[in-house]
Amino acid sequence: MDATMENKMGLPPPYEQAHPNPAPPPSYFGSNPPPPPGMVIPPATAPRTTVITSPPSSGLAPGKLGPGPTGTTCVTCNKSIVTRVDYVPNNRTHIISAALCVLAGCCCGCFVPYCMRSCKTANHYCPNCQAFVGTYIPS
Ligand SMILES: [Zn+2]
Repeated sequence: MDATMENKMGLPPPYEQAHPNPAPPPSYFGSNPPPPPGMVIPPATAPRTTVITSPPSSGLAPGKLGPGPTGTTCVTCNKSIVTRVDYVPNNRTHIISAALCVLAGCCCGCFVPYCMRSCKTANHYCPNCQAFVGTYIPS
């Protein structure tokens, strides 16, 4: 019934299209005029085949291991591991123990260095394949 009316009233009158943009106005910024057609400079960033290889965790980086279990990559099984650490007395341990003996006059403190991780060499092993990963010597 009212379809014709709706058509008449619902549809807005067609707007006139905006004026199509003519050629862009001459650049007011003379500092950087666009190059004329035909003189397009190819971009200088040609794709290069430079292969940037991020340093893989190849092996053991010196000083990477810490006094405790350290996350690293096992060179044997190539897995990301947290090392298992065995603490073994080293010469430093014995020296400190002897020094304590001398200073204390007895051997009361001799055992102390053997109980201190900082006085022991930390041997890192892979918990996965039990391979020896490296040694941390406290300094
Ligand atoms: Zn391993």
